[in-house]
Amino acid sequence: MTHIVWCRNTFRLAHNPALLAASQSGQPVLPVYLHTPAAHHPWAEGGASQWWLHHGLKAFAARLEAMGSPLIIQQGEYPLPLLQALIAQTGATVVHTEARWEPAARQQEAEVAAALAAMGVRFECYNASLLHHPAFVTNLSGHHFKVFTPFWKRCLVDFLGDSPPPLLPHPQPWVVPAALPPSLPLEALGLLPTVPWDATMKTLWDVSEAGAERQLQLFLAQGLGGYGEDRNLPALAVGTSRLSPYLHGGQLSPHQVWHAVQAVVAERQACGRETATFQASVKTYLSELGWREFAHHLLWHYPTATHQPIRPEFEAFPWQEDEAVLRAWQQGKTGYPIVDAGMRELWATGWMHNRVRMIVASFLTKHLLQPWQAGAAWFWDTLLDADLASNSLSWQWVSGCGADAAPYFRIFNPLLQSQKFDASGEYIRQWVPELAALPTAHVHAPYLAPPLLLHRYGVTLGETYPCPMVEHTAARDRALALFKSLPKST
Ligand code: FAD
Repeated sequence: MTHIVWCRNTFRLAHNPALLAASQSGQPVLPVYLHTPAAHHPWAEGGASQWWLHHGLKAFAARLEAMGSPLIIQQGEYPLPLLQALIAQTGATVVHTEARWEPAARQQEAEVAAALAAMGVRFECYNASLLHHPAFVTNLSGHHFKVFTPFWKRCLVDFLGDSPPPLLPHPQPWVVPAALPPSLPLEALGLLPTVPWDATMKTLWDVSEAGAERQLQLFLAQGLGGYGEDRNLPALAVGTSRLSPYLHGGQLSPHQVWHAVQAVVAERQACGRETATFQASVKTYLSELGWREFAHHLLWHYPTATHQPIRPEFEAFPWQEDEAVLRAWQQGKTGYPIVDAGMRELWATGWMHNRVRMIVASFLTKHLLQPWQAGAAWFWDTLLDADLASNSLSWQWVSGCGADAAPYFRIFNPLLQSQKFDASGEYIRQWVPELAALPTAHVHAPYLAPPLLLHRYGVTLGETYPCPMVEHTAARDRALALFKSLPKST
């Protein structure tokens, strides 16, 4: 009567409906992780996500071990044959799992559900990673949303009812099956890099459920109250929550974040410290979780949005694909300090501030005319939070081809963005050290500084720091002309 818990992207004890349900059955429980990257082709985890997965699995296995249970690790091409073999070996009668939302994962889930039903094995699939099932949010005509604001309004109306569901308790220790199936050592999955590009990441991220909880508490104590103002300032350590890798990697659920924020709100209300600024910050912060939900809602309804523009007229956009141009952007050598700082932060830490993500994505697609798919692919490989829904839809949004897209004529001026959101140049100095000595007036645009001044501070354009790849106004005009030439959408 064993209950298998097929752990797909929930690697925590808190708010883990699959593990909780299995543990409450009173029957032997077998948590398993099945590594099947080929089944997710072409969206198997990129390098940074593999690194996160390795450490996340390690921490989760240790947590289970402390509960007296192993985590069985197996790998193969597809999950179904692995599950069928496990069922045969253990005599399991139920498989619990959590939903994944990527198109390939959904398809596998459907195949597994059908095959297990045919075998007489119960298959229970729970939503552990979104506040709302992405298909269940509809407008008054029963259709999906294309625009964020009404989508989120609809969600908030629902939240006044009984959702998001209350937090689930941790499972109590469960019975471990008498005979265990074979398990691989974690290292056999080969998730860690062979070249040590993870040196900085290791010092920055505690990839564990406890690490997620600590980061959440830090943000609630130091970041939430000022989020409305600070969220656009990339130099601040706690200007945003930096929870995205934990949310994506399954160490934290949005339910936990939602309820933790509500608890802070209640506490402030109780002692009369709930200012208008605080209320605005909370509203804005929760709406960011809404953007995450919205991305999943769109991916559910537009499963090809991973590679095809939602606005079909963008299929005809004359991108000017150029490997060398793409590489300079990837390496943070565009000659625009705010762009280069972002790209270097990404490479070193596996994370980039949202404001800077928007700037670098706009620069790649609009100034450099590289396809958004190329930018999304690089983010996919280098982001610790690389998420098929959020990444694909954010790239579509910035480049103007998404459902609720930033209009094409909104072309960020990297210099103005830099002066506005990194006014002191602190962020640039951190990530572009060759410009660190420059006075603030010039650190945003060394290409506009007098050569003698640059010389005084040890900067030689084209040698110690690149010349700008394009001139902003000319690049802007070129992009606008191309966008205007597109056929009008129907
Ligand atoms: P906070 O500001 O603290 O927000 C809280 C949480 O809300 C985040 O952890 C995240 O889960 C969610 N969130 C915030 N903003 C967004 C958004 N615009 N869209 C979706 N969810 C959001 N986010 C990812 O999680 N994975 C990605 O692969 C990803 N790719 C992106 C690509 C581009 C080009 C852009 C412009 C944005 C992308 N984002 C992605 C969204 C956003 O940049 C990150 O979620 C955010 O920077 C994470 O930092 P944080 O946890 O401090 O966010």
